[in-house]
Amino acid sequence: MPTLFERILAREIPAEIIYEDVHCFAIRDIDPKAPVHVLIIPRDPIPGVAALPESGDHQYLLNAAKVIAEKEGLSNGYRLVINQGDDAGQTVPHLHVHLLGGRKLGWPPG
Ligand code: 5GP
Repeated sequence: MPTLFERILAREIPAEIIYEDVHCFAIRDIDPKAPVHVLIIPRDPIPGVAALPESGDHQYLLNAAKVIAEKEGLSNGYRLVINQGDDAGQTVPHLHVHLLGGRKLGWPPG
């Protein structure tokens, strides 16, 4: 059963894909928690951080975040978040990095 994000990538569910490379793609969150709220998603439907193989290069997620943050003009800073599992509130079982910015972000997060 394809994940929500696989269905978006297959254009079965509408979303504007604002970034794409060979490893990952990015969309704007449907329910943004900041003026900029982008989801960076590996093409490979890894369920989450807990399912990552011990060896494997996922640097591409950070590279994509950096490129998108620059494009979005987040020169004053931004936050990257990965929710893993129920306690963190993960709702989509397909690894994704939240890129949040465009306002002062509180710490610690809720
Ligand atoms: P999680 O809660 O798993 O860390 O993040 C999943 C995110 O996906 C949530 O922030 C949620 O708002 C977003 N989301 C859920 N459904 C859709 C959708 O159909 N389109 C887009 N663009 N984002 C979605």
